[in-house]
Amino acid sequence: MNLIIFGPPGAGKGTQANFIVKKYNLLQVSTGKILREEIRNKTEIGQKISSLMSVGSLVDDKIVNKLIEDIVSDRKNVNKFIFDGYPRNLDQANNLNNLLKKYDQKIDIVLKLSVSLETIKKRILERKTIEKRPDDNEDIAIKRFKTYEKSTEPVIEYYKKLNLLKVVNGERSIDQINKEISDIIDPI
Ligand code: ADP
Repeated sequence: MNLIIFGPPGAGKGTQANFIVKKYNLLQVSTGKILREEIRNKTEIGQKISSLMSVGSLVDDKIVNKLIEDIVSDRKNVNKFIFDGYPRNLDQANNLNNLLKKYDQKIDIVLKLSVSLETIKKRILERKTIEKRPDDNEDIAIKRFKTYEKSTEPVIEYYKKLNLLKVVNGERSIDQINKEISDIIDPI
C-alpha cells in the first residue's frame, strides 16, 4: 500500500504519519524533513535551499523530484510509502505519477487532514517553542498556509477526481484522528 497525507502546515501531518508508519509498517517520505536534513548537513542542495525555506517558499521542483526518485527507485521500498509534504503542486503530482508507473506502483489512498487557519497559527506558535524551526513564526506560517491553498489544494482536487481522497477532521484529539485513519486504512 502507498499513501499520501495532505494537510496545511501545522495540521498534524507528521504526528499522524508517524502513527501510520508504525501501525502499517510503511516508510515515511517527508520532503520537509529530508530538505531540513540537507541544510543541517550543509550539502550543496542544503546551501541552495536554506534561504528559500526559511521564508516559507517552495523549493525548486527539480531538486525535490530528484530526491523522491532516489527513494522510489529503491526496490526494497516497493509499496511501502507514505508521502508527507509531497506532491505539493501539480508538476510534482505529475512527476510522482510517472515515477510510480515507471517503478510499477500506484497510490492506493490519499488522506487530507483539514484544519482551520486559527488552529494552525496556534499550533505553529506552540511548535516553535519545542522544535525551533526557522520557518515557524506567525507571518511565515500564514505564507506557508497561503502557498498550500494556492499550490497544493489543486493537487488534492486532482486526487479527489480519481476517487482516492478521504478527508479527516484534524481539529480533534490525536487519538480520535488515529482511530478515524485506521478505520479508513484497515479495509484496504
Ligand atoms: P509544513 O507543511 O509544516 O510547512 P514541511 O516540513 O512539509 O512543513 O515543509 C517545510 C518547507 O520545506 C516548505 O515550506 C518548503 O519550503 C519545503 N518543502 C517541503 N516539501 C516540499 C516540496 N514537496 N516541494 C517544495 N518545497 C518543499
